[in-house]
Amino acid sequence: MPVYESVCLKCGKYHDYIRSVSQCLDTPECCGQKTDKRILSKPMARMDMQPWDAYESPATGRVITSYAERRADMAASGCRDWEGMDSEKHNAARQKQYQEEAEDKQLDGVVRQAWANLSPAKKAQALAEAS
Ligand SMILES: [Zn+2]
Repeated sequence: MPVYESVCLKCGKYHDYIRSVSQCLDTPECCGQKTDKRILSKPMARMDMQPWDAYESPATGRVITSYAERRADMAASGCRDWEGMDSEKHNAARQKQYQEEAEDKQLDGVVRQAWANLSPAKKAQALAEAS
């Protein structure tokens, strides 16, 4: 018989249950109510973390033992999930670009300010040197 999965809409806990196909809507109960059937059979991706995968969150110091805790922890700490090398590189490049643009603006501002502070004679001299 296939393994089904349901989720409790009250506490968010996932439940596995084994039913014949005709009985698949007969979900287990949790928190005093029927859980909500999710998917036909349990794919590997749905496997929750194993005990040896548990880790202490570097951001919050909490011990993470399930993907649900992991999601909650990352949301709480503002971390993103690793999205693959391409995405990470893209992100890093974008951050670098933002930073460079910010530095350019800052430098531009400094140059303008310095220029504004020059006396008319110095400005004339600087323009003469530049040409
Ligand atoms: Zn529940």
